[in-house]
Amino acid sequence: MKALVYEGAWQMPMRDVPNAEPGTGELKIKVETVGVCGSDVHGFKGTTGRRKPPIIMGHEFSGTVVTRGSDVKEYQIGDRVVVTPLLTCGDCDNCRAGFPNQCQNRSGLGVNLNGAYAEFINVPEKMVFRLPAEMSWEQGALVEPLAVGMHAVNLAPMALMDTVVIIGAGTIGLVTILAAKMRGAGKIIVTDVSEHRLDFAKRLGADVVINPAKQDAVEAVKAETNGKGAPVVIEAVGITATTKQSLLMARNGGNVVWIGNSDPEITINMQQIVTRELTVRGAYGFNDEFGLSIEAIRSKRVDPTVLIEKRATLAEGTQIVDALARGNADWIKVMLKP
Ligand SMILES: [Zn+2]
Ligand SMILES: [Zn+2]
Repeated sequence: MKALVYEGAWQMPMRDVPNAEPGTGELKIKVETVGVCGSDVHGFKGTTGRRKPPIIMGHEFSGTVVTRGSDVKEYQIGDRVVVTPLLTCGDCDNCRAGFPNQCQNRSGLGVNLNGAYAEFINVPEKMVFRLPAEMSWEQGALVEPLAVGMHAVNLAPMALMDTVVIIGAGTIGLVTILAAKMRGAGKIIVTDVSEHRLDFAKRLGADVVINPAKQDAVEAVKAETNGKGAPVVIEAVGITATTKQSLLMARNGGNVVWIGNSDPEITINMQQIVTRELTVRGAYGFNDEFGLSIEAIRSKRVDPTVLIEKRATLAEGTQIVDALARGNADWIKVMLKP
């Protein structure tokens, strides 16, 4: 089968790779649509260190069951499905305590297990969810990023009508707007250096957009919050400049959730956290939010397909990821069809 194989920084050629039969309890899924994630683009540059070549990336996808391994219980050939990319053991303390995203034996499709930039993928049945008939393949491929935004919002203590700042209007920042609205956020302030992305933020319901390239973003947030800063700040970029801003934009005693995951090390002013008693926490992946994300889209509470700006074949994927990595393109969400 054809797959895009990440072989090292800036290298992801299409290769012929073995199309293995599914193992016990596994399903072979024909990938119908797979989304290009910002983390794949960063991974492609070889700077984050989380993806070790050779690996097939791609973790936001929907597909059709084409082969059942032995001992598969629930799914049949022809079923339309979406797959959570988080493989968890179900057995460790964290899994048992109800937060499998922190499974001590966690692995991830497209990160350290081969993912869905391929014609087919074999996955354990327990990672599979049904794609409701009224949802498109593309909506299925957007379940994962929406779940990430929903998880970040779930982790931020938030009262009805609280002001929320979202730093970064890439896919995750943008779906976080949708999630914050579902949670009952008040004024939503979004920052990004791309006017193009800020336009999307407005379309998705941001009340105020700020371009830090044009104005002091921290001052602008203060001006929007009576000089106090916001009770909730969600950082969806993950570099020093924006994590610094996330602290400065929070009001005293405020909550800051870091979901951005780009630079492995950043420099911040620790005293901002100590003396102003900020709560800073990380958010990674999702737990129940994956199923809830399916339901949020199915029930038309949100429709993240507005984020799709480009559709292409799998073969075009390498060029597309390269263009995104070089900053030669600024598509919010790209969908590939193997
Ligand atoms: Zn992703
Ligand atoms: Zn576990």
